[in-house]
Amino acid sequence: MLEDIIQLDKKYYMNTFGNRLPVCFEKGEGLKLFDDKGNIYYDFLGGIAVNSLGHGHKDFIAALKNQLDRVIHTSSLYYIENQARLAQKLAENSCAEKIFFANSGAEANEGAFKLAKIYHYKKGTGKYEIISLDKSFHGRTLAAVAATGQEKYQKPYYPLTPGFKQVKPNDFEAVLEAVTDTTAAIMIELIQGESGVYPMDREYVQKLRKLCDEKDIVLIFDEVQTGMGRTGRLFAHQLYDVEPDIFTSAKALGGGIPIGAVCAGKKLSEVFEPGDHGTTFGGNPFATAAGLAVFDIYEKEQLVGNADKMGKYFFDKLNSLRNISDKITDVRGFGLLIGIQIKDEIAKKVSDSLFENRFLVSLCGGNTIRIAPPLIIKENDIDLFVNSLEKILEEF
Ligand SMILES: *Cc1c(COP(=O)(O)O)cnc(C)c1O
Repeated sequence: MLEDIIQLDKKYYMNTFGNRLPVCFEKGEGLKLFDDKGNIYYDFLGGIAVNSLGHGHKDFIAALKNQLDRVIHTSSLYYIENQARLAQKLAENSCAEKIFFANSGAEANEGAFKLAKIYHYKKGTGKYEIISLDKSFHGRTLAAVAATGQEKYQKPYYPLTPGFKQVKPNDFEAVLEAVTDTTAAIMIELIQGESGVYPMDREYVQKLRKLCDEKDIVLIFDEVQTGMGRTGRLFAHQLYDVEPDIFTSAKALGGGIPIGAVCAGKKLSEVFEPGDHGTTFGGNPFATAAGLAVFDIYEKEQLVGNADKMGKYFFDKLNSLRNISDKITDVRGFGLLIGIQIKDEIAKKVSDSLFENRFLVSLCGGNTIRIAPPLIIKENDIDLFVNSLEKILEEF
């Protein structure tokens, strides 16, 4: 019973998530999630950009079961076939040459910070500072919080890990002002996810690339949310046609099994040497089997292409709705990472009403409904959502 679960949670689970939405899912199938009363919810958030294959994907489950029957964990003391093969997949399908696996997005970003810092340490440049952006989100570990340009995440944890500073997003002059002789790296999200789906301009990103080349600064893209097909390309840097020195991946990479990846291009692929970094769980046989199955299914079902196609369809529909409703004030994003900005006064109500109508989305930045559905989504799912949104908007 939901009420019992809520009581248990309140009694024994630390209150980091406050009052959660009053539902507990028991089963999933494609875009649908079922609660304990058999109600159907439509998942337009995909477990926050994680469940790209949807729920209960047969081939995915089969691959996981197959690996469970063999071996789950062995440790980094031994060679791991799945780990090597998944690293190959990532490298062959992006600008990366070498990969390191972690267990989450924050941990992948930690790896990226360390790799950027040790690059400069070994070169003896004396550079150590990392610049990131206001309104960014890079995770909850202390260094990731120091890089996350949002006061609410940082303030309780002062003094923060030193060496981080944030500048205004999409403002190249602000970066120029902040860069000094000690700037080691610049980390950005190509599309800021948690703060309300704000894409960076192509020109801005190209200028960052040029600046980093000129000044020997490591350019890092946090693709934890934008990666793995979300934007209609396997990685968003392919959409922008700009290659970072490092990018990170996590969220959809394991299809729901925790895994993160630090992906380094040529310049940094050989920098880590034995002992410089490590992990117990990262990239274990089970997690990397999940990643391999995700890649297999993406290829078989052409899911990155589908994300591109369905994204365009979704944007067309939303823009049409925006044309007839002034309650939508902006539609932002790429592919299937979409922010629907709603008039401030009613944004929360619209978001609540979507939940009451059994659509799962998240409200970001106070006024933006974030959509990040499974990449298996079809036109009729999108129609269902947009028609409901239209009706809901009429109510307010
Ligand atoms: C979710 C997210 C993270 C953090 O990932 P965790 O797995 O929660 O540690 C980091 N960066 C971005 C851009 C994210 O969206």
